[in-house]
Amino acid sequence: MRLRFAPSPTGYLHVGGARTAIFNWLLAKKEGAVFVLRIEDTDRERSSDEHTRAILDGMSWLGLDWDEGPIFQSEGIERHKRDALRLLDEGKAYRDFSDPDQVRAEAQERGMHPSRVAREQAEALGAPESERRATAGEMFAVRFRVPDGETRFTDMVHGEMRFGNDDVDDLIILRSDGTPVYNLAVVSDDADMRITHVIRGDDHLSNTPKQVLLYRALGFPEPVFAHVPLILGTDGKRLSKRHGATAVGDYASEGVLPDAMVNFLSLLGWSPGDDREFMTRAELIEAFDPSRILKKSSVFDADKLSWLNGRHLAAMSPGDLCVAIGERLGPEAVERMGDEAWRQHMLEVVTVRARTLDELADQARPFVCAEVVYDPDAVAKHWGKEPALAVERLERLAGIFGVVDWSHDGLETALRELAAAMGTGAGKLIHPLRVALTGNMASPGIFDVLVLLGRDRTAARIAQAIERIRAL
Ligand code: GLU
Repeated sequence: MRLRFAPSPTGYLHVGGARTAIFNWLLAKKEGAVFVLRIEDTDRERSSDEHTRAILDGMSWLGLDWDEGPIFQSEGIERHKRDALRLLDEGKAYRDFSDPDQVRAEAQERGMHPSRVAREQAEALGAPESERRATAGEMFAVRFRVPDGETRFTDMVHGEMRFGNDDVDDLIILRSDGTPVYNLAVVSDDADMRITHVIRGDDHLSNTPKQVLLYRALGFPEPVFAHVPLILGTDGKRLSKRHGATAVGDYASEGVLPDAMVNFLSLLGWSPGDDREFMTRAELIEAFDPSRILKKSSVFDADKLSWLNGRHLAAMSPGDLCVAIGERLGPEAVERMGDEAWRQHMLEVVTVRARTLDELADQARPFVCAEVVYDPDAVAKHWGKEPALAVERLERLAGIFGVVDWSHDGLETALRELAAAMGTGAGKLIHPLRVALTGNMASPGIFDVLVLLGRDRTAARIAQAIERIRAL
């Protein structure tokens, strides 16, 4: 079994392309098949090295390794031409010397498809004359002669497909400048690479009858096809930039994890057949079955991606989490992480509140950075409204924190007793304290924060907070 992913380097790797790559990759891994990466760069004007690089980077980031390639379609041009000329030799294609404008006008007048007019003209010309004009150096395109009848093929997603050949035009396979066209190049390449299964986007379904006819005319074994439906935005329209990021690279820079992206995209249009959603790569490979790809379009739900990302984040090893924090907050942050038990506790309380690596770093910041970054809204809400009261509360807290048993329960009991003694609710003490210790409106549970910061850092932050409130 041999599979391929064949992106055109005319843009970045977008989520739809990535999903196609993932389906191919999952099936290749499951079946122990060869996975080929082919860059379809024959559209020289729209293709660029930059886009090729972005596609390769996107694949690497997603962890989709390939066995052969990248193979550039443009390297196969001579073979594409040979295949086209063989069809001409065998009488399965013909030279088209016609003037496209004249053909179009005549086709419109007679209510025919232009390619059928071109065919008529070629037939009227006759083989010897066609040969003579070609030898004399006249320009011509080569058109494939679509045989009569109908074309059937089986698609793993859509089932039995039937097309009347009358509806398939005699496609040009070699342009008059001698360059092969896309549909011929794809067939020539897939045959040359001995591809057995073609999983690709639904947007190619209309090319498939033409390609199947070319396979048959060239005597190449046909692959099995699976055409994967579109991805839509939540408004039911085709996913586009209007819906948010569509390039895989954007998700990488937003702190989405490759495992979460692979998990999420795998579930767009496919399901394992049970209600599992959070799945590791190994589980996806094990469960993947292309016959379970859905016919209907799927919806890109960014909330679900974020939820899955949180799940994958929580499943990361402590070492990898620390590396991610270090990458965002600097190496000093990692040095400040303390012993293993402390690190474990910190990671536990911050991972449950984070859905991306950026959020993870933000959550970890108060514990691993020397400076507190104060959120102005938090300051205004919990200090600025009644500054004198905030100072009084923080001073009383500082008083009990000097003597209390520094444990989660010890701290909680002491704080609640203090609140009762002051005739107020515990929340009234906790809010200004949270801003003092973390700078934020929200944080992990305050007693976890206190335990993690320890007595000395807590005292220093409260003192600094009091100074700042007095200066408000
Ligand atoms: N190059 C085509 C694309 O990027 C894919 C062609 C194929 O998979 O057959 O849409």
